[in-house]
Amino acid sequence: MVGQSQLVERLRELARNLWWTWQPNVVALFRELDPALWRKVGHNPVEFLKRLPPDQLERRASEMALDSRIDYAFRRLSEYLRDSKSWGATHASILRSRPVAYFSAEFGLHESLPIYSGGLGVLAGDHLKSASDLGIPLIGIGLLYAQGYFRQTLDASGWQQEVYPSADLELLPIESVLDSNGSPLLVSVQTNSGELHARVWRVEVGRTTLLLLDSNVPENAEWDRALTARLYGGDARTRIRQELLLGVGGVRALRALKINPSVLHLNEGHSAFATLEMTRALMDATGLPFGEAMREVSAMTVFTTHTPVAAGHDRFPADLVEEHLGKIREAMHLSYEDFMGLGRVYPGDHNEPFCMTVLALKLSRRANGVSALHGVVSRRMWQPLYGNVPEENVPIGHITNGVHVQTWVAPQMHQLFDRQLGPDWPTRQRHPETWEAIEQVEDAELWETQQVLKARLINFVRMRLAAQARRRDEPDESIDRAMQALDLGALTIGFARRFATYKRAGLILQDVERLLKLVGSIERPIQIIFGGKAHPEDRMGKELIQNIVRLTKQDPFGSRIVFVEDYDMHVARQLVQGVDVWMNNPRRPQEASGTSGEKAVLNAALNFSILDGWWAEAYDGANGFSIGVGQTHAVPSVQDQRDYESLVETLTNEVIPLYFDRDATGLPRGWIARQKHAFRTLAWRFNADRMVMDYAWNGYLPAAGGLSCQMPRT
Ligand SMILES: *Cc1c(COP(=O)(O)O)cnc(C)c1O
Repeated sequence: MVGQSQLVERLRELARNLWWTWQPNVVALFRELDPALWRKVGHNPVEFLKRLPPDQLERRASEMALDSRIDYAFRRLSEYLRDSKSWGATHASILRSRPVAYFSAEFGLHESLPIYSGGLGVLAGDHLKSASDLGIPLIGIGLLYAQGYFRQTLDASGWQQEVYPSADLELLPIESVLDSNGSPLLVSVQTNSGELHARVWRVEVGRTTLLLLDSNVPENAEWDRALTARLYGGDARTRIRQELLLGVGGVRALRALKINPSVLHLNEGHSAFATLEMTRALMDATGLPFGEAMREVSAMTVFTTHTPVAAGHDRFPADLVEEHLGKIREAMHLSYEDFMGLGRVYPGDHNEPFCMTVLALKLSRRANGVSALHGVVSRRMWQPLYGNVPEENVPIGHITNGVHVQTWVAPQMHQLFDRQLGPDWPTRQRHPETWEAIEQVEDAELWETQQVLKARLINFVRMRLAAQARRRDEPDESIDRAMQALDLGALTIGFARRFATYKRAGLILQDVERLLKLVGSIERPIQIIFGGKAHPEDRMGKELIQNIVRLTKQDPFGSRIVFVEDYDMHVARQLVQGVDVWMNNPRRPQEASGTSGEKAVLNAALNFSILDGWWAEAYDGANGFSIGVGQTHAVPSVQDQRDYESLVETLTNEVIPLYFDRDATGLPRGWIARQKHAFRTLAWRFNADRMVMDYAWNGYLPAAGGLSCQMPRT
């Protein structure tokens, strides 16, 4: 029997590597020690272990057979970290001494490390996890936002309030990176208006490391200490300074750690300044002229663009760029005009602002969008950058986004896969054969598993609604109502994502009378769970949220349409794991990929979505439902109206009838057949292992090996 202190030490070690976040057994281990405390600390094991009373640990130790469970988890982690037979060890050994450096402004790894705002960050987090699982040497670089994006609450009128709690760094799963003297490592960037400093933190994500830069150091001016406090918080000046730290500071942090990457992967244009710092350093080290150094850097750079809307790309006025990059520009012996040209589609156009995406495209030999359709849209959008090259030959390919399966699959579904697909299914997830065994699952078993998950979701939503009502000091009857919201028998639709205008959260609410018919049906009722944050500056997004909340206060809707506050990875997990239908109705083609629907697939929820992003290439007529037929219209209001009609018609004539068509045993056989078909056709394609491997074959390995092949295109 190991002693108490050793148990705690081992638990601490498990807490220090985010590997635990995708191990249901380890999550259960933490939770069962003290479920109430686990909830209270927001599933943060570092804080949890700090606060866990020693006598509680002692009591639970024998009740839970704690030492053998900890021992087992601990052994599995050690084996995982040591594994020499990974895919990467066999196929990507060229990256071992010189890893991939993966830059992203946000990383969504777990709700307890809130340095993400939405899909872009979650994608980056899932990328790190799959790179770890596959054994691909990769190191992440990001910023540490002590206040995160923001926490959302709604006031009594349904208006979004932003709260910015400052994280206690002691309670985050981060460790200070030290220099050779044992002091916190400091990286610095010179600008024409003074020096900017950041310290560096390290996060362990399985076998992968994430470095986070943090400007809150005494060496900085007061105002710069807050520079990295918030994600997407400030004005253009804050923004360019954050991006300077991320790109230039990030490359310097790697150099300080003697990490010499063979590939730079820029996840969106925010980090594109990294290419300039690499070029400058290469010129400095080798004496190469700018043009040649730039070609070498672009040969090693992979750029993933995520924004199909021209206005959505970061652009900075020339004076801000000169203030911040002037020193690097001079070191590269470039004139002001030549330098500004690197960020312009038309270099000679003095009025054109400096665009980070343009810089990234010019400084990367391989570029890609995040779905087949987004690849097409991106080639069209950036064609002017390539002169006479016809649109279809513009060198932007695509790699469709995927999700980290073990992060998003419910534990109960995980167990079902263990039984039916074989316990090693996670390592075989990218092969179609793996998922064929789903057909052998008894209909009743799949259905019951999902009912359990749905009941868990309903309970979760009720608790959340009650807590929201209590916080607003609403009367007791309002809390009682919250505890009776939703119905296990109703077709449950989830809609949760950022409240960006193009995502059209209000589409289904367009005609309240028609909605009432669907929601109020006695025989075949539906219910909708909404969630999501609007950007603090986005009035329209906040008005949309308010409209939904107003509806939830009207009687017939009250228990059937709900809004869950503070959408984050935890809420996302509950929703995608518990709903029957995952709805997505963006204005095509503005959803570059979308990933939440891919999470739903893994939990047997059927997608009901506009043919945009990943769904445009995933939908085969029988693995979910489509809204519309993949059309666009030059007039947005016309497109909205068409899509709305299709939404209501498909829901009324296809989705609802199939769900409520039960056989004598009460099972919806046609629905279950569709769920199984969805697993078989989608799960092997839209996972992050497949995605990261695509990046390895088409980006990392050719870049590291100096090959000239391009990203895939359709
Ligand atoms: C997956 C996820 C997203 C992305 O959802 P989309 O519907 O693809 O935009 C956003 N936010 C959170 C918290 C997520 O988990």
